[in-house]
Amino acid sequence: MSTSILYHAFEIREYVYMRTRHKDGSTVFEVERGDLRRLRCPQCRSYDVTRKGIVVRRLRMEPIGMRQNFLEVSIQRVACAACGVTRQVSLPFADPRSSYTRRFERYALELSKVMTIGDVASHLGISWDTVKEFQKRYLRKRFEKPKVGKLKLLAVDEIHVGKLTFLTVVMDLKTGAVVFVGDGKDSEALAPFWQRLKRARARIQAVAMDMGRAFIHAVRRNLPEATIVFDHFHVIKLFNERLSQLRRDEQKKADDQGKEVLKGTRWLLLKRPRNLDDERNEAERLREALEANQSLATAYYMKEDLGRIWRQMDRESAAFLLDDWIKRAVVSGIGMLVRFAKTLVAHREGVLAYYDFDGISTGPLEGMNNKIGLLQRRAYGFSDMEFFKLKIMALHEATAVLIG
Ligand SMILES: [Zn+2]
Repeated sequence: MSTSILYHAFEIREYVYMRTRHKDGSTVFEVERGDLRRLRCPQCRSYDVTRKGIVVRRLRMEPIGMRQNFLEVSIQRVACAACGVTRQVSLPFADPRSSYTRRFERYALELSKVMTIGDVASHLGISWDTVKEFQKRYLRKRFEKPKVGKLKLLAVDEIHVGKLTFLTVVMDLKTGAVVFVGDGKDSEALAPFWQRLKRARARIQAVAMDMGRAFIHAVRRNLPEATIVFDHFHVIKLFNERLSQLRRDEQKKADDQGKEVLKGTRWLLLKRPRNLDDERNEAERLREALEANQSLATAYYMKEDLGRIWRQMDRESAAFLLDDWIKRAVVSGIGMLVRFAKTLVAHREGVLAYYDFDGISTGPLEGMNNKIGLLQRRAYGFSDMEFFKLKIMALHEATAVLIG
């Protein structure tokens, strides 16, 4: 090893190589300060300091081949006249109090792009928590406070985390980036976000959301200029929930009569027809279930028609379809459809407002929901909510994606 290699290959600046020791399968490089620069206080940057002895710190650095490497740094302590405190001078290649060089941290992050946290930890011989902390620091720097001044079109959505916890997620519909994650699912969840928008003087044009009351009030109050849009994704999501409930109710009736045909059809009802699996006979099973239950069949086909409202050329055709749907739902006499029709009547303007904003598409929202589902299955979200939120905020950026 040499000062030059340490400098060029490992970015160990301002320190000179002294000697190498080999110990327990790892290598230790001792370095000392090169005295190229004047000493200064790490806190206030003052040069008015006096030397107060040396401390030796050991830092983990990148491996060479399979071997673990350490840097043993003799660090000058200085007493600062201005602060009146004695501290270690700052190192150009490691953060204060860290046991790792910045390069080592960056190396672990690079590996994180292709390996899970567990993989990186075992490869480098460090703990799972350490790798997670590296990721967290990086994610915080990049995503904690996104710029919100230029936001125009937003989507608000709530997600489950585990059984009891809810998060409220705000997405920039132009970029697909998650720009805020709040705690809970009521209007309080968004309070810090409104503050941020206000400070940045953002002028939001439209917000896509579900037809739940909490967010509607919050948006009306905090963004009086913005149009509320009930998009395809949110409306169909609600319809699917009601459809599942209808199936459960009908199932119960069928059980009482000793019929079995609705068993296991929940997912078939929620699937898009083109996604039905032929090998598992799904289309056939769905057909049988629908034939056996008229209410369920009607609701199922009404879902298809409902979706078409967001696929029209213009607002007029959509309005025609929407009103026609509402009429047919009421006439059906099926409680679930009648109630849904009432909801649509109450939110008609918001549904049709979809056609006033080109940029609102449901794709990014659906994609985000799927990815969040994937994050959750990795389960680390529950032990560290801040980390989980940061992971959600990093979702859209392929380059920033850290696996696992
Ligand atoms: Zn000072």
